[in-house]
Amino acid sequence: MAELPKYKMYIDGKWVEAASGEYFESFNPFTGKPWALIPRGGADDAARVAEAAYRAGTKGDWPKLKASQRGALLRKLGDLIARDAEKLAQTEVRDNGKLIAEMGAQLRYIPQWYYYFGGLADKIEGSVIPTDKPEMFNFTRHEPLGPCLLITAWNSPLLLLAYKLGPCLAAGNTAIVKPSEFTSASTLEFAKLVEEAGFPPGVFNVVTGFGNEIGDPLVIHPRVAKVAFTGSERTGAKVYERAAARLKRVTLELGGKSPNIVFADADLDNAMKGAISGIFAATGQTCVAGSRLLVQESIHNEFMDKLVAFAKTARMGDPSKLDTQVGPVTTPPQYKKVLEYIDVAKGEGATCVMGGGPAKRPECGEGWFVEPTIFTGVKNSMRIAQEEVFGPVLSVIPFKDDEDAIEIANDVLYGLAAGVWTQNIRRAMTMAERLQAGTVWINTYRAISYMTPFGGFKHSGIGRENGQEAIRSYMQTKAVWISTATEVPNPFVMR
Ligand code: NDP
Repeated sequence: MAELPKYKMYIDGKWVEAASGEYFESFNPFTGKPWALIPRGGADDAARVAEAAYRAGTKGDWPKLKASQRGALLRKLGDLIARDAEKLAQTEVRDNGKLIAEMGAQLRYIPQWYYYFGGLADKIEGSVIPTDKPEMFNFTRHEPLGPCLLITAWNSPLLLLAYKLGPCLAAGNTAIVKPSEFTSASTLEFAKLVEEAGFPPGVFNVVTGFGNEIGDPLVIHPRVAKVAFTGSERTGAKVYERAAARLKRVTLELGGKSPNIVFADADLDNAMKGAISGIFAATGQTCVAGSRLLVQESIHNEFMDKLVAFAKTARMGDPSKLDTQVGPVTTPPQYKKVLEYIDVAKGEGATCVMGGGPAKRPECGEGWFVEPTIFTGVKNSMRIAQEEVFGPVLSVIPFKDDEDAIEIANDVLYGLAAGVWTQNIRRAMTMAERLQAGTVWINTYRAISYMTPFGGFKHSGIGRENGQEAIRSYMQTKAVWISTATEVPNPFVMR
């Protein structure tokens, strides 16, 4: 058998093996076979990278750069990503099994994050405060925090990285990236572009390995000032706890169980397309998946007939083919989890009207495929309606009226996103106000932009990524007082 390509980590501007010299395999979800070897970093590597990132942020060229120069570097990085978008998209597909059509579009869009935050870098202005103290000049500066640990999930590694890295570097911090053990290759390929763009050594670093072996030592490392995390609620809570004990700042982007609500007055063809893209795009492996479809009772049967007929046309198979519409699940544990949830739903008495098991189609080969699955007759109290599956499994819940829809939609621990399909503007505005979610889409689903704040209510997260707000979470404010008095007053006389 041909030897697998071996990747190296990127620490302090150098390509290095893990201190242990060990590697682990990265798998192609379509073939189910390993295709690359990734360094298995541990505590020694965590210590090495944390010191390097600290050094780069306090000495050397990076802290001396003007904000405009940081911005120029970020924009150059954006150009390089645009140049190599197809290549990076292919690496993502090989590693996470998502469709080339989706990853290609995603990679072509990612440069915008670096252009936008590159543009913001020199617009971070402090203020002069008209203080009440006599003979005093008082102003504020917004300064970087220090080394930031950026932890990403496996579903969209480079997009989730862009959410974090753009504002992190624009604000003048240094970055240590820890991608998911399942999808490290694209971030290591990306590091080559950061090197080519000319960022000083140690400003951007990538370490690889398992969460508990290298992620945790970094979360608690004293040099790490902030942790920006995308992943599951369970790991997010652990990271939060470990970071809080060391008084670190955090941004958490966690899971969801988002309602996609179809009112009887909606354009049903559009709503049907929105429902499908909400759950079967990315094989349901997206934090904003519209995994609870709330359908008004009066149109329930008509709508479901339309939905199922359309969903059945989905072409499954090789994600690297442009016309494939549903790809494999990314990891074996996730594949097992999705199938377990299908059994849970059946056990709870939901009616499976489509799919309901592994996909055995010839075009799916040996990959980890699950049939696009739809359950009707779901009650919101069921586990299938309350817990995140992160797969192509849709729970359909009927509702009576607006109040009923709001109550069901909000009766869940999560609050990442919500969709509303209606032609009534008053209803749309009321829903936008009353739904407990960080994003509400009206007559659309899954729209995101580098300009628009993104994040969760409730258990879906803490803080916001994207938009101008994001950069503040990578900065701290310093107040500076300058006396303009010619004489320092007597310290024993209170003024
Ligand atoms: P996990 O929580 O399992 O892992 C997320 C990241 O954390 C991985 O890089 C993982 O590394 C790392 N990690 C694991 N344990 C630790 C630890 N003790 N300390 C530090 N880091 C650790 O999530 P998944 O990768 O399974 O991603 C799926 C989840 O991500 C879903 O719940 C989904 O909703 C959520 N998500 C949220 C998004 C949002 O923006 N709100 C967007 C996309 C996904 P390793 O892989 O090595 O374990």
